Formats: sequence, structure tokens, C-alpha cells
Amino acid sequence: MHHTVYLDANATTQVLPAALAAATRMMETQFGNASSSHSHGLAARAVLDRARATAAQVLGAGDGHVVFTSGATEGIQTAVLSALCAIRARRARGEATGHLLVYGATEHKAVPQALAHWNEVLGLGLEPRALPVNPEGLPDLHTLALWLPDTALLCTMAANNETGVVTDLAAIERLLAAAHSCALWLVDGVQALGKLPLDLQRTRIDYAAFSGHKLHAPKGVGMLYVRRGAPFTPLMAGGGQEGGLRSGTENMPGIAALGAVLQALRKGQTFANHATLHGYREQLVASLRSAFPTIEFNVPLASSLPTTLNFSVPGLPSKTLMDVFDAAGLRVSAGSACSAAQSAPSHVLQAMGLDAQQAATAVRLSIGLLADARLVDAACEAIARCGQALGMAQSPSAADTARAQAQVSTWAGADASWDAAAFTLQWDELDAFLQTHPRARLVDLRERAEQQAGGGIAHGSRTAISAPASELGPQIPAWCAPGSAPVVLLCRSGNRSLKVAQWLHGQGHTAVRHLHGGLALRPRPA
Ligand code: PLP
Repeated sequence: MHHTVYLDANATTQVLPAALAAATRMMETQFGNASSSHSHGLAARAVLDRARATAAQVLGAGDGHVVFTSGATEGIQTAVLSALCAIRARRARGEATGHLLVYGATEHKAVPQALAHWNEVLGLGLEPRALPVNPEGLPDLHTLALWLPDTALLCTMAANNETGVVTDLAAIERLLAAAHSCALWLVDGVQALGKLPLDLQRTRIDYAAFSGHKLHAPKGVGMLYVRRGAPFTPLMAGGGQEGGLRSGTENMPGIAALGAVLQALRKGQTFANHATLHGYREQLVASLRSAFPTIEFNVPLASSLPTTLNFSVPGLPSKTLMDVFDAAGLRVSAGSACSAAQSAPSHVLQAMGLDAQQAATAVRLSIGLLADARLVDAACEAIARCGQALGMAQSPSAADTARAQAQVSTWAGADASWDAAAFTLQWDELDAFLQTHPRARLVDLRERAEQQAGGGIAHGSRTAISAPASELGPQIPAWCAPGSAPVVLLCRSGNRSLKVAQWLHGQGHTAVRHLHGGLALRPRPA
């Protein structure tokens, strides 16, 4: 059993201990409502004010507002709603506004979805239009210049969550100035916070959205910068909190935690600095190149955040690589966490001109600002193990994987009378099952490279039989022959084991169970 190494910081991060302590304090002792006039309320208000002052310093907000929100998605909605209401008002006054809502083709989905949603809800009939990016992921400034005279709202991101590509916001600002554009400008600053210098007061950015959980604060808190004088329409109306800009009792544990993170950022002692992060990236790049000699990086390293690597190993589907990484304890992702849930090919890589095949091999590795030498050494060691495992196991080709996937989907749905619950074991039921069925055997359905990278599975005195799912069928395996002992099927997430259980059940083998959640939900020894 190897230690796990979390390398998916662009999806979310662990909470900074000081932030956890601040949140706990707000729940245990300083739990007053920041709007109450008694001392408990005043104490909470002081924390709120301090967090806002720190945020303003970190963002360089100047005389702009910082509004605490539930996260970047809410900040983006608020900015889009505000901008669209202002555009509507300008139109009503007979002013020319332009009819385009321009957004970068690689924006996080929150942006185009919010544009489409509010445009529809408000019945404005404006045209959301994706600004193409070049093969390096940078917005096509020539096209933007052509579109600017018709642009009412421009949405760009400071840094991309899937690739780490950093947008040249100053170049965009110069274009806006040259065009004498009166477009409103929203910047998604989520991945830039703490990683790129921000001095928003020196820009003409109207709105900038940020999220706490990408930077070691908890989920459910974020902030929106609003330039002084920028139009504003609250998304939430009610008790008038946040100066009427965002009603609802403040999320004080979250805000206090975010305040602690921003304080740490301001002091500059807690988090890794740029130079250190560059060193870590070099180390990770070297270990990836040595483990996977044919590796290709999907964006130029020079123009991306030092915390993000997006790469492909030709011929190796990202699913295969991620399964092996997961087995070795490395938590990485194939693009954004949202698209992982939908298993859609990355719109970001496709916008950059990668074909669907290339996009299907992409893996994202991202470190947070709490990364240290130990984490990076452990990551490199695990990467080397994955390289060896895939080499030894003769990594499955794309064709092998496609065949295995077809195989698995034929198994699914094979049996209409299937009652999955009756064949599912939870981890806390496993010992009782094994006691009742002393001859029962564990079967490890993970692919050979996963088994190699993570080691075999043992539970008590039992060692699991190795039976990679892609090598099964059409004959029933010997360990499930008629009259054999019951089997408990196991894989990484419980997906393959469920399908194989269903298939075996369809073949008349009822003494089969699968472990719900697979190794991912295996209880860790205390
Ligand atoms: N924008 C970017 C670039 C992101 O990476 C994310 C994270 O998912 C979001 C917006 C949405 O942030 P939140 O989870 O705070 O709503």
C-alpha cells in the first residue's frame, strides 16, 4: 500500500490548517450573526470586515467592491446578470451597445452557460459567441479586434483550469482601449488567485470572480470584485447583507477561512513561491519524460501556470493512464472535474485544435500552493512506478481498450431480472460475508498495469485472484465454474465489478458479489 499523492489542485484543494481553525472558531465560539448588534454579532462583523479588507489588498481592489459569494459560479452569474441588465437599460435609453456576448472558447462552462441562461431568462436576444483560441490556447486577438465594435460584454479567463494557459489580459485591455469599446468586461480569476500578480484597480476589468476552494479555503465560499462604478444587479435580494449587493446571512465559517488563506497569501510565508513551483514543475516534467518517453505536453510550458501540466501519452487513453495513476496513489484528472463527471471530451483541448482522439488521451496534473518537496518527490516516485507498470504490462493499445470497453458494455444490461442490490456488498459487510462463506474468494478485476502499479489486494488472510476485466469472456472463468466457492469481485471504483457481476449472474452464477465503490471506498486502517 503506497501513500496517496493528490495532484488535482485545479479541481479543488485541501483546507489550510489556519483556515480550518478560523472556520471552527466561527462555528464554536464566534457564531454570532454579523448583522446582530450585540457583542457576538460585533465579533463576527469584525472578522467579516477584516476578511474583506485582506481580500481587497490581495486583489488590489482599490475603491472597488469585494462581495463574498458562494463561489465563482455565483460570482459569474452575478456579473453576467449585472452586465445584461445594464445592456438592457442602455438599449432602452437608445444607446448603441453591440449585440455580442463574447467569451473565450476555453472558458469554464460556468461562463457560456450563465450567458445563455440569463440572455434567455431576460429575453434579450443577444448573441453569445465563442472567441476562438490558437493552438497554444491563447485567445485570437485579431478576431477579437474585429468583433469588439459589436461586443456588449466580454468574458475572458486569467488562467485556464485544464491547461494552465495564462491569458495576456494586458493585451486585451489594449485592444479594448484602441477600439474605444464600452463593452463590460468579466474576468474569471479562479485559477490565477495566488499564482499570478493581481492589481485589479490598475485595469479596466469590471468584474472578476474567485473561488475559495481552489486555494485551500473550503467549498461554498468565493468572492466577486466589482469595479467602482460598474453596473450591479444583485442576484440575491433579501436582508440587505453585503451592503445590499448579496443578501443572505453571511457564510462566516467560509469567509473567515478564506480570510485566513488570503492573510497567509499576503504575508507570503505559507505558500510556495513562483520560483519554487517552477522547480517542482521541472522535476515532475523530468519524471514524466523518463516514465513515458513518448509523452507530449499539450500546451507550451512557458505560457502556462507552473502548477498545471496537461499531457498525453500517444496511444494510451487517458482513462487507462488515470486508472494506473490512481492505483499508484496518484490523484490526477482528465481535464476538468465537471467534464470528468460527464466523461465528455475536453472542449478546451478541442478548441485548441486537438482532435477528439488526442483530447481522449489528455491527462491533467495540478499542484496547489501547499505543494512541498516531499509531495513532489512522492509524486515522481509514483510516476516512475506507473511507467514501469505500463511498460511491464505491455500497455493496452487504444484498440485493446476499445475492445475492453465494448466487452464491458455488452455485459451490462445482459440480464433484465438483475437486482443489483442483492449482489452488492458494502465494505462494512465484507467481513461478515467472508465469515459466513469461509471458502469465498476475492477477485481483482483491475487491469494488469493497475495491479502492478498499486500492488495486489489482500484482505485479512485472503489474497485476491488476479483477473483483469478486459481479459474475461466469453467463457466463464475457472474461479466461477459451476459448484465453485462464492466470489467477491473488486475493482478501482466498483464500476467494472458491478458489470462483471451482472454478466456472471446472467450466466447463472448467483454466488457472486461485487464490492460497492471498489478500492476507492475501502476503509483506511485507523
Ligand atoms: N472557473 C474556473 C476557471 C474554475 O476552475 C472553476 C472551478 O470549477 C469555476 C470557475 C467554478 O468555481 P466554483 O466551484 O467556485 O463555482
